[in-house]
Amino acid sequence: MNANRIFNFNPGPAALPISVLQEIQESFLNLGGSGMSILEISHRSKEFEEILNDAIIRTKRLLQLDDNFQVLFIQGGASLQFLMVPLNFLSEGKSADYVNTGTWSTKAIKEAQILGKTIHVVASSEDQNFSYIPKNIRFHEDAVYVHITSNNTIKGTQWARFPDTGSVPIVADMSSDIMSRRLEVEKFGLIYAGAQKNIGPAGVCMVIVREDMLDLVPPTIPTMLSYQTYASKNSLFNTPPCLAVYTVQLVLKWLEETIGGLEKMETLNHKKATTLYDFIDSSDFYQGTAEPQSRSLMNVTFRLPNEELEKQFVQAALEQGLGGLKGHRSVGGCRASIYNATSLQAVESLVDFMKAFEKQNG
Ligand SMILES: *Cc1c(COP(=O)(O)O)cnc(C)c1O
Repeated sequence: MNANRIFNFNPGPAALPISVLQEIQESFLNLGGSGMSILEISHRSKEFEEILNDAIIRTKRLLQLDDNFQVLFIQGGASLQFLMVPLNFLSEGKSADYVNTGTWSTKAIKEAQILGKTIHVVASSEDQNFSYIPKNIRFHEDAVYVHITSNNTIKGTQWARFPDTGSVPIVADMSSDIMSRRLEVEKFGLIYAGAQKNIGPAGVCMVIVREDMLDLVPPTIPTMLSYQTYASKNSLFNTPPCLAVYTVQLVLKWLEETIGGLEKMETLNHKKATTLYDFIDSSDFYQGTAEPQSRSLMNVTFRLPNEELEKQFVQAALEQGLGGLKGHRSVGGCRASIYNATSLQAVESLVDFMKAFEKQNG
């Protein structure tokens, strides 16, 4: 059944482990002996409660979160978090620092501004078309949080190390690199990630929040926009996206039981990215667009000598069973997204194809 599947380099929604897809298929008509599909069971059933709690426990184990952290599942994507974060944490008189490293950071900043919150953009890499991660940033000691985008999906840059923000907690959009590496969790007050890049399908956003951050949430926030609602009801205030949460649970199980945890995943992700970047650096035909120090291990962005060749490259790759290599429409060029579920074999096949394409067209 795998014969007609391609190597999937899509930026999101993106590749999922084949074993996860198969497990969904196998359980689809009869989940855990219930005689019902995950699409048909109650979100308050024993079966779903086990799925939800297992996803939470695995998240805590994988990221080594202590009991100070809660794991929530919220709809509305990462984009809703752009507004929920400032809405919940910035009451009158309070402010936050933001670092602008690309499209998604810019959107997060915009939402805080729409809400009329006080925020300071303390660093930006816009001067160089967001091709690097800013260094030596001075943060405000009285900021409630520092917001960063840990991996810039579109520009292909990533924070290799998280900034020293003193006692101010980091709030991070980790949509495109959550669970790709180990984390120093004590630095973070809140982490959010739309599931559809690295841990599941579209339709759910994972939110990891530290207890003391919840104390900042005023009771005046509308129910569905308040972190308190999700935290106090174990994400079951209203009907959650059951199939999406189930898929996340299976991906986390795969990470623990098949991959063997985040250290192993991190090593594998390094190997994949190095394989691709080393080849790009050895070639005069392909040009990486991110500054080498700031390169993403998840989204490898590169250009060919001209746009016509880029178009041909994307098309010819697809004909060889390598899909999703077109750059984001806002920046052009090419991008290989090599998230957790994309194998080393897929990356090696891509490099082989790139070599052959260069030979023909270089
Ligand atoms: C894809 C992406 C988003 C947007 O996610 P939605 O779930 O579509 O709202 C936000 N931030 C980053 C870093 C992303 O890669």
